[in-house]
Amino acid sequence: MNDKYELLYEGKAKKVFSHDDKDKVIIEFKDDATAFNALKKAKFEGKGKLNCLISSRIFELLIKNNIPTHFLELKNENTMIAQKIKVIPLEIVLRNTAYGSLCKQTTIKSGTVLVKPLIDIYLKNDELNDPLITKDRIELMNIISSKDLDLIIDLTLKINLILKSFFKSIQLQLVDFKLEFGYNLKNNILLADEISPDNCRLWDLNQKNDIIVSLDKDRFRNDLGGLIEAYSEINRRINDFI
Ligand code: UDP
Repeated sequence: MNDKYELLYEGKAKKVFSHDDKDKVIIEFKDDATAFNALKKAKFEGKGKLNCLISSRIFELLIKNNIPTHFLELKNENTMIAQKIKVIPLEIVLRNTAYGSLCKQTTIKSGTVLVKPLIDIYLKNDELNDPLITKDRIELMNIISSKDLDLIIDLTLKINLILKSFFKSIQLQLVDFKLEFGYNLKNNILLADEISPDNCRLWDLNQKNDIIVSLDKDRFRNDLGGLIEAYSEINRRINDFI
């Protein structure tokens, strides 16, 4: 990135830089991958570019469907311009199918299609290991008002309907995903962060038998190999469709 832009923040998968316009930021997607609260780390050449391209397409789709997002435009293959936001320190996970931590913490069997989407909210705090929290705890910590929390939950359910149907049309089952929201300078709530195979579970529906073929970060979490091939396949299907 050009020296004239100041690095404002560096996360596990992205760097955020200042922009000439104080209302905007430049987000650079990195090739780094982490899992299990960064206990497991690796680098995959080309991942940043793929996640940036996939995220941009998904944000465009959501914007067309009247979802407020921070996305403004793609700058180049691994960089996007977004509205500057103040991140709300919550990770909103929506689950359509039981998998991952839900099955480790409950008696629900892996792969169970849920009768209605389940929303699990986690506190975004690495030191505390992103614990699962409750509405009452969010209120106690004064993170956001209950009205804003309801708005975020409502947006998450709407986003699920849009994404589920979109992914189905490109032969992918949207198992679950994680969203982050923030306030822009006008204090409006916007969908932020990214929407990519790093934070969505996507299973290939082009399989004859019932085996699960993950085309997402589970390829890294579970040492399945072929991460770049999986992300490229998702990018290819999105581009062929849109
Ligand atoms: N997820 C994420 N960041 C996290 C934890 C989870 O993006 O720090 C996503 C993950 O990719 C999956 C969904 O949230 O799509 C649900 O993950 P889960 O709670 O099952 O956690 P995991 O099994 O990955 O530990």
